[in-house]
Amino acid sequence: MRFDVITIFPEIFSGVFDFGIIRRAVEAGLIEIHIHDLRDYTHDRHRQVDDRPFGGGAGMVMKPEPLFRAVEALTNEESEARVALLSPQGRLFNQQVADEYSRKRRVILICGRYEGVDERVVEHLITDELSIGDYVLSGGEIPAMVVVDAVTRLIPGALGCGDSAERESFVSGSLDYPHYTRPAEYRGMKVPEVLLSGNHAEIERWRRDESLKKTLRRRPDLIKSERVEER
Ligand code: SAH
Repeated sequence: MRFDVITIFPEIFSGVFDFGIIRRAVEAGLIEIHIHDLRDYTHDRHRQVDDRPFGGGAGMVMKPEPLFRAVEALTNEESEARVALLSPQGRLFNQQVADEYSRKRRVILICGRYEGVDERVVEHLITDELSIGDYVLSGGEIPAMVVVDAVTRLIPGALGCGDSAERESFVSGSLDYPHYTRPAEYRGMKVPEVLLSGNHAEIERWRRDESLKKTLRRRPDLIKSERVEER
């Protein structure tokens, strides 16, 4: 799977993808990440990517031409690419969307800045608009990192242990169960007895119960939405 990220701040990405699971996935050839400087797709001396809004008002708007040129340059040999604009107005990015994306061969992520992008980009260039939550950030770079990270974890082989992705929060419609490691007792705080018992069936039951209890307490909406899907 190949990610292309279009941004006016390519340097922001140096470092974040060089650690842990993402780095391993790149090294294993499971994913490729290409970061593109939007200014490379300008033709003027000032390499201008933004301009004042028609109709007046505060802030600047990202110009359409460099974005169209960048996406067209990246997709000319490939028509299947998802072209996603990061935007607070987009479809809410959740585990289900991450799963959908993990099955694509090519994902192009456009990072907005300023007041956002010219609406013609939204209407005629992109295939998707993704929001990482109901709050406004100053740029699409952090959201793009979020998308790359969440999607990469779901690509078969990206996680060390074969089934660890299936057990995580949201994947099965509930939150993850509590985890403990050594020492078995720390400052008088004990690890639940059942986890030390070696009884795998009991442990499995305990984990399922805990996961369900936690989900009911914190995120009852997840359980409801699972029932709706079952119908
Ligand atoms: N004026 C816009 C906000 C622009 S914020 C509005 O009110 O809708 C600048 C850029 O940050 C956006 O173009 C987008 O790329 C990014 N951004 C901000 N919040 C985001 C979010 N919750 N999810 C994804 N991208 C976001």
